[in-house]
Amino acid sequence: MKIFNTLTRQKEEFEPIEEGRVGLYCCGPTVYNYAHIGNLRTYVFEDLLRRALEFNGYVMNHVMNITDVGHLTSDEDEGEDKMKKGAEREKKTVWEIAEYYTQAFLEDMDRLNFLKPTVKPKATDHVQEMIDQVKKLEENGLTYIGKNGNVYYDTSKFKYYGELAQLDKQELQAGARIEVDENKRNASDFVLWFVQSKHGDQDMQWDSPWGKGFPGWHIECSAMSSRYLGDQFDIHCGGIDHIPVHHTNEIAQAEGASGKHPWVKYWMHGNFLVLKNKEKMAKSGDNFLTLSALIQKGYDPLDYRYFCLQSNYRKELAFDWEGMDAARTGLRRLREKVMALGETEGEIDESRLQSFADAINDDLNMPQALALAYELLDDMSINNGDKLSTMKKMDTVLGLKLDEEIKFEIPPQIVEWILERNKARDEKDYKKSDEIRDKIQESGKWIVKDGTGGTEVIPK
Ligand code: AMP
Ligand code: ZN
Repeated sequence: MKIFNTLTRQKEEFEPIEEGRVGLYCCGPTVYNYAHIGNLRTYVFEDLLRRALEFNGYVMNHVMNITDVGHLTSDEDEGEDKMKKGAEREKKTVWEIAEYYTQAFLEDMDRLNFLKPTVKPKATDHVQEMIDQVKKLEENGLTYIGKNGNVYYDTSKFKYYGELAQLDKQELQAGARIEVDENKRNASDFVLWFVQSKHGDQDMQWDSPWGKGFPGWHIECSAMSSRYLGDQFDIHCGGIDHIPVHHTNEIAQAEGASGKHPWVKYWMHGNFLVLKNKEKMAKSGDNFLTLSALIQKGYDPLDYRYFCLQSNYRKELAFDWEGMDAARTGLRRLREKVMALGETEGEIDESRLQSFADAINDDLNMPQALALAYELLDDMSINNGDKLSTMKKMDTVLGLKLDEEIKFEIPPQIVEWILERNKARDEKDYKKSDEIRDKIQESGKWIVKDGTGGTEVIPK
């Protein structure tokens, strides 16, 4: 399997650290609001990666954290705490906000047919591990205390700092977007432990060797991944926005604490979902679309999964409603073709499956994989049973529930005609039964079929 490694900016052959096993860490949601469909695009990519690795026979240890503390409105040390902001907006406690939006996220994961991570650690359950990692960094001489009492990482002391983002130290200094902060020795330094927030008291506070306070966002991921995946592991994922700050800082923490380099063998990043005007979808602002909003507009959540599958995860994807309609039609067509195969399975067509494997193993080439699924279904030389078995195997990666019955609402008038037609057929009145069939079909939207249980209709 070849994957694109952000560390080397190259497609590389994937070789796990331990044969047959993969440790995968995906930065999870900050649960102060619903996930938007941009966030969900990144999680679709990560689910496809997980499924593709399992397709290749690897046993997965898949960790996805839940950030319920410490993430400020900027990725640096600026701004308000996102959780606090959510709680103020909804006049609830931060704990209530965290619980509510965690559940909402888990529901989105189910609706998009994501495989469940092996563990979903919450940041607030792992504060001790974070404190321990900061202590280790302190012992290794990589930290200092700012005038404000916060614990900072001294990035000038970590020789690989900025390697992932491919920025040299001077560029990092010059390019840092943050205002000059008198507490920091270097512009790229960042907070490991806050004892002081610019924005008043936090509800979430813990005792620590440096005083009561709360962890920085970056330390969460390096502490939780070390806890569940060890000092070194295979793949770490997230959106491309995480490359310059969050993931750069995670590396500094994990490697600074353990002394082992490289911490993660392969870094993979999903590109953004953008709107037509190239605007990035963000959790604030009015370009905020959720999965529930798509469902309210009548889409199946898997229409959105299909929409994402049509583009490569490393390319920007522009969202528009025409694209969603096309995805809906595409998914329906695929399901109809699978439904028409019947229910009896045959044997897997190994050569077709191999081409499919080649596509997903080429850095998750999902548009090609989808095209191969269509090709299989349209191949007249393969019998239905073999097609069904091969398709089901492909769907373990596509995750489109292709063998699921298509659900649609039949209007009451059509239901009435179906019952009338069944009655006519029972009475062997075929003239009447044909007339009703024509009437249903002429209504424009339905095709009539004779199934084992009587009249069946499917949308045109
Ligand atoms: P957050 O909940 O803000 O920590 O973001 C969750 C995930 O969504 C992260 O991996 C981000 O990199 C990713 N992300 C944020 N905005 C977008 C977007 N517009 N398109 C795709 N992924 C995004
Ligand atoms: Zn993270």
